[in-house]
Amino acid sequence: MKAFECKMCGECCWGRGISVSEKEIKRMAEFLGIEEELFKTQYCVINKNGYELKTKESGYCIFLKKSKKGRICAVHPVKPDLCKKWPFFKSIVSDEEEWRNAMDACPGINLNCSFEDFVKQAKDEHPELYS
Ligand code: SF4
Ligand code: SF4
Repeated sequence: MKAFECKMCGECCWGRGISVSEKEIKRMAEFLGIEEELFKTQYCVINKNGYELKTKESGYCIFLKKSKKGRICAVHPVKPDLCKKWPFFKSIVSDEEEWRNAMDACPGINLNCSFEDFVKQAKDEHPELYS
């Protein structure tokens, strides 16, 4: 039994656009086979720190797509680091209260597992959080 397993609901892809670095833009543009400038025009908006991914009218990220299995990310293999990490954020793995709060936002966090189980999975899958 995993402490976290994505249910492909897409709810973490709703809300404010994800800020993306030039490095992340480059890898997503390469994955899509387009120039970085075109990627920025088509998929990004400028924010005070640089760029963020556009959201659709519904509020979901521009890359969130429907599939038979659920909602999927069109750039999944190269998605932004923040998306790769969720829900194993430092703030969540270091604070049991934050972990409880995260359950409201993410049905992939297993209610039948303990905070310790969650931290163990974080250590196994995201050792960089602890280096
Ligand atoms: S909210 Fe959780 S379960 Fe839903 S898509 Fe995001 S990571 Fe997966
Ligand atoms: S890039 Fe992918 S994982 Fe990240 S918010 Fe957009 S659809 Fe979700």
